Amino acid sequence: MLPFFGDFYGNPSSIHSVGRKVRAFLDDCRERVAGVWKCKASEVVFTSGATESINMAICGTARFLKPKGRHIITSAVEHHAVLHAIEYLVNKEGFEKTILPVDVEGMVNPQDLENAICDNTILVSIMAANNETGTIQSISELGSVCRRSGVCFHTDAVQWFGKEPFDNILQFNADLVSICGHKFYGPKGSGALFIRSPLLLDPILFGGSHENERRAGTENMSAIAGLVEAISLFVPSPVFDRKLMTPLVDKLSSLHSLPGVNLVCPSANRLSNTCSFTVPKIDSITLLASLDLDGICASSGSACSAGSLSPSHVLSALGNNDNEASSLVRFSLGRETTEDEINFVLDKFPTAIERIRTA
Ligand code: PLP
Repeated sequence: MLPFFGDFYGNPSSIHSVGRKVRAFLDDCRERVAGVWKCKASEVVFTSGATESINMAICGTARFLKPKGRHIITSAVEHHAVLHAIEYLVNKEGFEKTILPVDVEGMVNPQDLENAICDNTILVSIMAANNETGTIQSISELGSVCRRSGVCFHTDAVQWFGKEPFDNILQFNADLVSICGHKFYGPKGSGALFIRSPLLLDPILFGGSHENERRAGTENMSAIAGLVEAISLFVPSPVFDRKLMTPLVDKLSSLHSLPGVNLVCPSANRLSNTCSFTVPKIDSITLLASLDLDGICASSGSACSAGSLSPSHVLSALGNNDNEASSLVRFSLGRETTEDEINFVLDKFPTAIERIRTA
């Protein structure tokens, strides 16, 4: 990433020699992603992160396909980047939505999806893995329901990449796949969108003709370089190795034997590194602050909404009441997490709860 702050500071759209060198590097980056994804380089668009990829996929597709229909389907456990983009289209642009329910483990039923698709449906967006519970969807099955019905399918695969076995981007059976770099050790503020050709999207940003006229704005070369390196290193062979993570997550899961502590989605096929609990009667923010006093960094539902006290919409969709849905604490293990660190959390967690209960 560093050369793009120095010798390679040139703009890839400039025609001078430095610009041309950077352009060649950008082209190479796209080829490298296409090599891992096993798709065409022209199907890769670099973005500023998942939020932008998702907005481009949803708003861009919905607006482009508006002459064909106005109905969009999603699930109740999506990230707000998906839910709020669709809500905007419904409230301001005359689209209609169906929000599919999930079962207690957070799974969407493919039959529910099939039943919800109608002549007016133009887009389905369902995430590959959930950021709060870690539940992994049967995404290729949901994708094939869409394919059979001729409906465009987007998946937010942000949490999935770098954790699950990856062979090629078509394994999702999706027309659009959103990712970002910082979930698998790439830089924050980097992302990409796979757009299966020949699908066309309306632009959501207007300006220059960057990214093959699909995303106006000078490319963030350092972020792209970091993202591409992370994709090459950490996606084909997942950096969050399940063999290494499972014993640690299993050990951490034993916290649910504490009185009043529940493991979230205990029977689901979950991401290798994600383990969440509810501690009803204690709100997430208070618990996170108490854990932080002991130097333990955990999250509430979505880090993106940390600081907000509203109940987790994901836990509500799983059937939890407001009290339970406000008490989520999530641990995301990293490749450097050690057994000593897990033991430390097992040791401190009861004290962190007690500190609150006796306050
Ligand atoms: N989708 C999911 C599932 C996420 O977990 C996140 C962020 O954590 C996003 C979308 C948004 O990503 P970003 O903040 O990189 O735009």
